[in-house]
Amino acid sequence: MDGIYLLWCRLANWTPLLPPPWCTPSGVVRAPIRDVVSVLYVQTFIEVAERVWVARYEWADVNVTAIGSERGLVVVDTHGSTAAGRNVLADLDRLGVGSVAHVVNSHWHWDHTFGNAAFREAARDVPIHAHEEAAIWLADRGEHMKRRFAESPDQPHGSELAATEIVIPDLTFAYAAVLDLGDRVLELAFPGRGHTSGDIVVRVADADVVIAGDLVEESAKPWIGMDSWPLEWPATLDVVLESVGQNTLVIPGHGVPVDRTFVRAQRKEINQIVQTVRTLAGQGVPADRAAVEGEWPWEVDDRIHNAVARGYEALFSS
Ligand SMILES: [Zn+2]
Repeated sequence: MDGIYLLWCRLANWTPLLPPPWCTPSGVVRAPIRDVVSVLYVQTFIEVAERVWVARYEWADVNVTAIGSERGLVVVDTHGSTAAGRNVLADLDRLGVGSVAHVVNSHWHWDHTFGNAAFREAARDVPIHAHEEAAIWLADRGEHMKRRFAESPDQPHGSELAATEIVIPDLTFAYAAVLDLGDRVLELAFPGRGHTSGDIVVRVADADVVIAGDLVEESAKPWIGMDSWPLEWPATLDVVLESVGQNTLVIPGHGVPVDRTFVRAQRKEINQIVQTVRTLAGQGVPADRAAVEGEWPWEVDDRIHNAVARGYEALFSS
């Protein structure tokens, strides 16, 4: 992460938490982003590349990215409730770099889409872009997911979840879309199935940034759910890696920005899981023994159980 710097101490409320030599008497600091962001949850936007800002919100530890242009801001992901989305908009207002012209949902999951309504409150016609599968899943499962979370006794955000209106993306695509922003162009691309059936990546070519959604996670192992496609995930990351160069900044769905080496390493781990699932299935190990009998790169948790379930399902249905 060498060579990536940001202005920092202007955010006065955080300043006392930052040790020297980051803070200077002028109140401006230059520091490697990994050093700073890993210390704190940065619940406001910081510029990580030319007119590309990321806010890392504590609830769900999720990233929201804003890209500036002469035709307004593009916001990738909207956080986990209408109230949380309003908070994102307030943070963008404070940043003062323009109004929101486009919203993008990287995939259908609640922590990336449930803030959509706040953006429509602020601008009735703002387009919300997503993969067509993401729109279908959010329409089919969003309300169920919302109720489940809202009613969960250990969910501190239950009431705001209950008050959340789910807004489905209205501009969807199957393979790729281009947003012409005047002085820059954004590429939205579907690299294949992985974390879900409709994860997209957003490329800001002029800033050498790739926003990867939950196809890549930094602060936890990537989530393999019952809506994931683990067997296809490594090949999907190979497609993503084609647009990730030596100096490309990759913004994951959760955690600090990473680079090509990190994405390659995570692809290798997911591939190890896939190969283990294939081997166990080939040996006739029953699904309920697979998690115990396999050798996994990660501690066995729901991710591995789900990888086995989804892997066996795919292998034995083909
Ligand atoms: Zn997700």
